[in-house]
Amino acid sequence: MNAPRPPQMQHALPSYLEPAGVGPWGVFLQQVERATSALGELAYLVETLKRPKRILIVDVPIRMDDGAVAHFEGYRVQHNTSRGPGKGGVRFHQDVCLSEVMALAGWMSVKNAVIGVPFGGAKGGVRVDPRKLSERELEHLTRRYTSEIGIVIGPNKDIPAPDVNTNEKIMAWMMDTYSVMHGATSTAVVTGKPLALGGSRGRRDATGRGVFVCGRAAAAKIGLPIDGARVCIQGFGNVGNAAARCFRAAGAKVIALQTIEGSVHNPGGIDVIKLAAHQDARRPLAEFAGASMIPNEAFWEIESEFLIPAALEQQITAANAGRIRTRVLIEGANGPTTPEADDILSASGILVVPDVIANAGGVTVSYFEWVQDLSSYFWTEDEVNGRLDKIMNDAFSTLWEAASAAKVTLRTAAFTVACRRMLEARHLRGLYP
Ligand code: NAD
Repeated sequence: MNAPRPPQMQHALPSYLEPAGVGPWGVFLQQVERATSALGELAYLVETLKRPKRILIVDVPIRMDDGAVAHFEGYRVQHNTSRGPGKGGVRFHQDVCLSEVMALAGWMSVKNAVIGVPFGGAKGGVRVDPRKLSERELEHLTRRYTSEIGIVIGPNKDIPAPDVNTNEKIMAWMMDTYSVMHGATSTAVVTGKPLALGGSRGRRDATGRGVFVCGRAAAAKIGLPIDGARVCIQGFGNVGNAAARCFRAAGAKVIALQTIEGSVHNPGGIDVIKLAAHQDARRPLAEFAGASMIPNEAFWEIESEFLIPAALEQQITAANAGRIRTRVLIEGANGPTTPEADDILSASGILVVPDVIANAGGVTVSYFEWVQDLSSYFWTEDEVNGRLDKIMNDAFSTLWEAASAAKVTLRTAAFTVACRRMLEARHLRGLYP
């Protein structure tokens, strides 16, 4: 193999990112750097992970209900495709920016390599607050965005899925738009679709279920019982809600929850099924009778056995990490913990189960959905869940052993395992031309 490049040959930040505003991508770079010393001879290729393979930025113009034309920024980033087609969700959020989508794409590459599914990493997003759009505007935005990124996606190229503020309905519109563009129904172009359109049983709860499976595996390693355990969760959407139900079913109690509306606490346990119904009825969190509102800052200080950030990135920073009192932090969200916070948590003896394994249940069942679509043969929910649990438990054991052997955190072990797998694939494929 070639010798590592001397430092003067290494590339700096790409010119399209402001160093001051490097944001989540800077976190991803630091995480790769922490794993680099363990890459051995493959380290000569590590620079390929520090820049995305392909970035597409699109203008998404739509006609609003009042007749005006509005423009939205859209992105699709393919970070690495050495191990297979790109795979990763699409986020609709008012704060979506290039750095964020780049980081999310990088985390998808790592995640897919950690769990061993044959995908690279990608991510997409539109900078929009979807709550301000009507149903018609949302559909037009989704369809125009899909047609704009249509040149880089496809069942063998890059397969989008839901993420924050996108769901089955949006995946159905994306699948239909792509199919219309190609003159043939193409179910395998997106995952997270409704069952009636080639979706997979078990997909809806898969990420939250995976959070639980990883949390249970981590707890077993440190002799922490789930029955009676106290759980705090930030985010009560797709991931947080499903994780809450799984922990509850295993005998744990969810004692605090934080959403965009604020934080609630009930030391006796919050009835998460009732809270979900309350939320579905579009009633304000503050009116939920089964818990008391507390200040958002106080949420992070509540003593628990499990803390699950399942909202957005960079929620646990040097500013609040020192106040966290939990045993196991399971990252349901992508990138919720900064590297500085990671060091503080590690020094406090808190076990962090990193996002790249903890929330990989969603992409694992997305992989099952893609396989089922391509073979037009569908599995039962028990088959899906059984295979999901096995993949997650096996991947967790591999990381646990790697972390113990190298005396590093689970995150650094995950990045080391994943970077080796990606770079081995790149080394074997060789560099074109
Ligand atoms: P969602 O839109 O269904 O729910 C997001 C939740 O976070 C909501 O309850 C919202 O109120 C809360 N939230 C938003 N902003 C907040 C803030 N500033 N403070 C507190 N709470 C806030 O999203 P989701 O699909 O559950 O995704 C949540 C996280 O999990 C994201 O980081 C996403 O990338 C990650 N993730 C999702 C999946 C999936 O399958 N949906 C898979 C892997 C990772």
